[in-house]
Amino acid sequence: MDRACSQTRVHILTLGWKAGGRGIGDVMARPPAIFVGDAPGLDFLNSIATPVDAPIDWIDDGEGFASWLEQARLVSVDALTSIRAHALPGELDKVADQARSLREWFRGFVREHKGRALAAGDLVQFEPLNRLLERDESFSRIVPQFGGGSEPFELLMARRWRTPEALLLPIGEALAQLICTEDFSHIKACEGPACTLLFADHTRGHARRWCSMALCGNRAKQAAHRHRAKAHRVQLEDSGF
Ligand SMILES: [Zn+2]
Repeated sequence: MDRACSQTRVHILTLGWKAGGRGIGDVMARPPAIFVGDAPGLDFLNSIATPVDAPIDWIDDGEGFASWLEQARLVSVDALTSIRAHALPGELDKVADQARSLREWFRGFVREHKGRALAAGDLVQFEPLNRLLERDESFSRIVPQFGGGSEPFELLMARRWRTPEALLLPIGEALAQLICTEDFSHIKACEGPACTLLFADHTRGHARRWCSMALCGNRAKQAAHRHRAKAHRVQLEDSGF
């Protein structure tokens, strides 16, 4: 799916926001978030990872959560600016707490079900997610044609951001999309020994093994090379060279 394209079509409105104020936090201290899942729902699970030595949780507070949503292009910059400006103290942090709970609940589901197709009987497990989706206040609007089609207008989806908890809704949607559109047979965990990243393997032949070559693939190649070199040395020594 062309995510960048589809997400520019999501017209996001900020309506009925509460009064209050909050400045920009320590978001600059975090490296850019990781987007290797090839599915927004899996990228959300990958919002905690250990890219080098120490684990990083990109959504460990409200500002981190807002920044991650922006990087994931799940909420527009305009909407987030308004939310940051109007949120009451601590309000975004509370939503980030809820997001982390949602993330870990869903991680349990994906870990249990990855590698095989979902079955009709799995539906009962989605009840908490369906309850979240029920809160959505999305609506559609007629707007000028964005994609250069022959008609002058098109219908776009929009969302009212009445409460800070509404920031959970695009995530709920991403998780639901994962359930409804991805073949769980091809959802995999990276084979890197210390890696926790998950991805949907959309490669032809479904041969993808790593979150990325830069993070784990090259490390594995180097380890294999060292292993071969060592085996070669042992062989030479055994033959008396
Ligand atoms: Zn990895």
